[in-house]
Amino acid sequence: MKRSITAAILALFIPIILTATQPVVSDTVISTETTTQADVKPRIVILATGGTIAGSAASATQASYRAGVLSIEQILASVPGLENIADLKGIQVCNISSQNMEQAIWLKLQNTIDSLFKNNLCDGVVVTHGTDTMEETAYFLHLTVRHSLPIVIVGSMRPATSLSADGPFNLYNAVALAAAPDAKNRGVMIVMNDYILSADDATKEHTVNPNAFGSPNYGHLGYMRDGDPVFFRESRGKNTFSSEFNISGHKELPKVEIVMSYAFASSVATNALVDSNVDGLVISGVGHGNYNTAIAEVVEKALSKGIAVVRSSRILKGGVDLAAEEYEPRVPVAFYKSPQKARILLMLALTKTKDPREIQRIMMEY
Ligand code: ASP
Repeated sequence: MKRSITAAILALFIPIILTATQPVVSDTVISTETTTQADVKPRIVILATGGTIAGSAASATQASYRAGVLSIEQILASVPGLENIADLKGIQVCNISSQNMEQAIWLKLQNTIDSLFKNNLCDGVVVTHGTDTMEETAYFLHLTVRHSLPIVIVGSMRPATSLSADGPFNLYNAVALAAAPDAKNRGVMIVMNDYILSADDATKEHTVNPNAFGSPNYGHLGYMRDGDPVFFRESRGKNTFSSEFNISGHKELPKVEIVMSYAFASSVATNALVDSNVDGLVISGVGHGNYNTAIAEVVEKALSKGIAVVRSSRILKGGVDLAAEEYEPRVPVAFYKSPQKARILLMLALTKTKDPREIQRIMMEY
């Protein structure tokens, strides 16, 4: 993967050299196009990772399909008019279903976007991505790309071969949003079904419908109308340019896993994780972040081994605040973050501290 991305960036920005560990060494962009001041368009780089937006089915009406098949060139060719709104460059980062997302790809995306912005190689970035873990990649980049230029993540619920594929219009909206002057300083955004969602609260709420994403606690960030963004609110919590997390140079992040709580849950899974020496555990609690006595006993064992534990809820709305039942200061609460987002925030928090009071501060501020 490393070699192919480097080759792609080399082809795009010769003679700039970009690798995972090495920053861009020159900010000279060789353009083959002759432009006048009047037709200078925002420079948008599309980082393609796969997903249903790159998916293909055997027929135009078939529900089953294979994700991560089409190349970035094929996806771009399906959206006429894109070239009128931006000067586009595409990079194939990987071509996977996002249930197979890997930490190495997150780090590669973070590093690539950071280098593109730091060296003034583009004005905005669009990431095409499968919808299954899109909110997690979005939140990771929201916390780790320390720039204010637009980053938009987009996917589709129907494959590119579908009778009414949603990918082409979603991609059009994503490029238009990334190119919009008003899209700066808003953290990482997701665009699906005309809605703009902030990585702070976006989550997949439907398994198959094209209107799959929602923001259960804070509401949509806005929507796209005729190629222009209309914003309802600001992104909440510290992010991107105001983030304290600097992961440059990290090859690996702390290992944090999620434990699910439910009626008469046994302690077997939690215990196995604690014995496997994870760095942190997030409990996806019932109700306001609660867990039973079987899990509570293993939480004690985890704390005594120095494993950080954070309490969140499996419930979509309301979060877990400091007024939690049986509040335990050694087990910080996640506020409005879903278990999967609390996990990412805890991974990053653990790059800085193991102190539960500091982790609680971070859970409140982000
Ligand atoms: N499994 C697919 C993925 O996340 C689903 C999608 O893209 O909608 O890659």
